[in-house]
Amino acid sequence: SRDPTSAMLERIEQDNVRFLRLQFTDLLGMPKNVAIPAKQAEKALTGGIGFDGSSIEGFVRIEESDMILKPDPATYTLLPWQPRECAEARFVCDVYKANGSPFEGDPRYVLRKALEDAAKDGYVFNTGPELEFFLFKMVDGRPSTQFQDVGGYFDLAPTDLAEDVRREIILGLTEMGFEIEASHHEVAESQHEIDFKYSDALHTADSVITFKFATKTMALMRGLHACFMAKPIYGICGSGMHVNCSLAKDGKNAFYDADAPLQLSETCMHFIGGLLKHAPAITRSANPTINSYKRLVPGYEAPCYICWSASNRSTLVRVPAPRGNSTRVEFRSPDPTCNPYLAFAAMLTAGMDGVRNGIEPPAGVSQNIYHMTAAERGRDGIATLPGDLNEAHHALLADDLICKALGPHVVEALTNVANAEWDAYRTAVHPWELDRYLATY
Ligand code: GLN
Ligand code: MG
Ligand code: MG
Ligand code: MG
Repeated sequence: SRDPTSAMLERIEQDNVRFLRLQFTDLLGMPKNVAIPAKQAEKALTGGIGFDGSSIEGFVRIEESDMILKPDPATYTLLPWQPRECAEARFVCDVYKANGSPFEGDPRYVLRKALEDAAKDGYVFNTGPELEFFLFKMVDGRPSTQFQDVGGYFDLAPTDLAEDVRREIILGLTEMGFEIEASHHEVAESQHEIDFKYSDALHTADSVITFKFATKTMALMRGLHACFMAKPIYGICGSGMHVNCSLAKDGKNAFYDADAPLQLSETCMHFIGGLLKHAPAITRSANPTINSYKRLVPGYEAPCYICWSASNRSTLVRVPAPRGNSTRVEFRSPDPTCNPYLAFAAMLTAGMDGVRNGIEPPAGVSQNIYHMTAAERGRDGIATLPGDLNEAHHALLADDLICKALGPHVVEALTNVANAEWDAYRTAVHPWELDRYLATY
C-alpha cells in the first residue's frame, strides 16, 4: 500500500484543490488560518509550514515567535462554498515550536494532554454539543440585532422564514462531513439550534470551530449574520452550547449500569461529582466573555446554580432520559463563545478527578431551582456559579487541578485577557448607566 502522504496528495489533486487552508485556534477560540497553494501540500504534510506566532492572541512574545503548523491529515475537508473547479480544502493543524516540540499554548495540545491522561485509565471522552445561535439581518453591510423571523420553539414555516437558510447551512455542513442529528427553531425569535453527532472530544472540538465559521460564512452569503454571542439581547433567551458528555471504556459506554440506581454507573455519578466540584473553575473556559455572564441568570433555561438533576432543565448538570449506549450527562453552562478545546479539557479533568477519587455528588434536585429561595438553596448546599468574568477567573486561579490541566502558559495568557477585558468593561460608561442616571443627576 502507498504511504499516507502520497495518498493524501493524490486526493488533493483529484479534488482539484488549488488552495489549502491550514487552520488552528487562538486562545480565545478564534479560528486562524494560513492559505497555501496546493503545490505546497507535500511540504506542509511532511515538515509543516512556518508562521509567525507573535500576532496570535495568547501565543508567544516577539522574540520567540517562529512556529510550525503541522496538518492533521484526518481533518481534510473541502470548503463547500468554493467552486469545485477551483476547490479549497482545509486541514486542522497542531502547533509546534521551532525546536520541534509541541507548543503549550496551542489549545488543541491542551485537550490532547487531558485526553491522554484519561486514556491512562482506559477512558475515551466523548462529547456532543448543541450549538444555539441567532440569525440577524445585516444592515448597511454590518451585523445588527434585527430579527430575521419571529418564530418560536420548534415552529414550522412559514413563521420560520429561516428554514431555507438553515437547510442550506445543514446541506453545507453535511458536505463537510458533519452528521447532523437534529435542527430546530429555538425559543427566541430568530434563534436556532443545530445538533451534530457526538464523537471523541478532540474531533468534536475541531467540529465546533468548523461549525461556527462555516455557518457564519454560509449565512453571510444569504445576507445574514450568524451570531454566537451568549446573550445578544436583554430579556430573551441567550444561546448556549450544552455539552453531552460520556466516558467509554473497552468500546462500551462507562456511564451505563443496568443494575444501578437510575441505571447510572458509579463512574457516571463520580464524574458528575467532579464536574460539580470544579464547576466554578470550569466556568472560566466554558464562559469566557464578559457577555457570557448575562446569559447565566435565572429564568431562561440557562444554569446559575451548581447542582444536578435527572431531568429538570434549571440545573447545571442534567441526565437526559436515554440509557444504554446513549447514557450521558448534559453539562449546560458552556456557551458558543467558548474555546471548545479548553472547555472540554477542563470538563474532562474535573470529571476524571471525580472518577479517580470517588467524589459523590450531592442529592439531585427535582424542583425548579429558579423558584427556590436563597435559604432553601443554602439548606441544600447549592452554590452559585461565578457571576462575572472576574469572579470566574479567580475561581480558576484557586483550582490547582484545572490550572495544571490548562498549563502555566495558558493560565498566564488567560490572566492577561481577563484583566484587560475586565478593566475595559469596568471603566466604560454603559448605555444602561446613562438611561438610569443622566436625567436624574
Ligand atoms: N437557550 C438556553 C440556554 O441558554 C437553552 C434552551 C434549551 O435548549 N432548552 O442554555
Ligand atoms: Mg437541544
Ligand atoms: Mg436548545
Ligand atoms: Mg440541551
